[in-house]
Amino acid sequence: MKRFVTQTADLSDWQPNSVYSLPEDVAHHVIHVMRMGTGDTLELMDRAQNLVSVKIDRDGNVACLSHTTCAASQRRFSIHLGVALIKWPRFEWMLEKVAEAGIARLTPLCCERSVIRVQDWSHKSDRLQKIITEAARQSLNPMPPELCEPQKLQNFVSEAQEHVYFAHIGNYPPLVKVASEFSGEVRFIVGPEGGFSPEEVAYLSSHATPFSLGSNILRAETAAIACAMTQLLF
Ligand code: SAH
Repeated sequence: MKRFVTQTADLSDWQPNSVYSLPEDVAHHVIHVMRMGTGDTLELMDRAQNLVSVKIDRDGNVACLSHTTCAASQRRFSIHLGVALIKWPRFEWMLEKVAEAGIARLTPLCCERSVIRVQDWSHKSDRLQKIITEAARQSLNPMPPELCEPQKLQNFVSEAQEHVYFAHIGNYPPLVKVASEFSGEVRFIVGPEGGFSPEEVAYLSSHATPFSLGSNILRAETAAIACAMTQLLF
């Protein structure tokens, strides 16, 4: 049965044999994109992972057939990823992939060697939010990442309650080894195309733990995706 994720509706009260409106954030997709209609059945899942199966009735409402909770995606740790501001097309592509992988939060980081500056964040964040929503819809991720405001690298580290790890080129413990100890929320940092400045390396070295992603030098967006993928490995 085709499954749709709703970010806006709360399905916790939905009962079998009762009739409801299709949540507005999925209605367009169900009716106009998937061209489903009277008599078709589908599944809906909300952010709390309530999972209902429903049948579309004559006036476009849906009759609830069953209600369960989908507890399959309980995770041992959640990821707050801080990624240096890199050129937007690459940043956007990376954002789509990490939203599919299921990280909890993403903060764009202003680093000394970031090649772009954020001029109009409210305008930009609308576009980035749409990318996240679409990636979550397509990947059936009920918990899309929260997009946080850009921050200076040092602030992202100093405000953290949780442990901070940074991807660093060199002979450091591999990420898979470091990640085997994770629990709760962890913060990862990935630097810009030009790497961290010497001052940033000095700061990070005394406030966070370095890890390696192997001997190949990855582009920043590849490194960010590799970090997000640890979510799927543990
Ligand atoms: N020219 C830069 C490359 C930066 S790559 C330099 O030599 O420093 C962009 C970012 O991706 C890096 O700052 C680092 O955070 C991460 N990264 C890339 N490859 C990595 C690797 N093999 N191990 C750990 N981090 C890596």
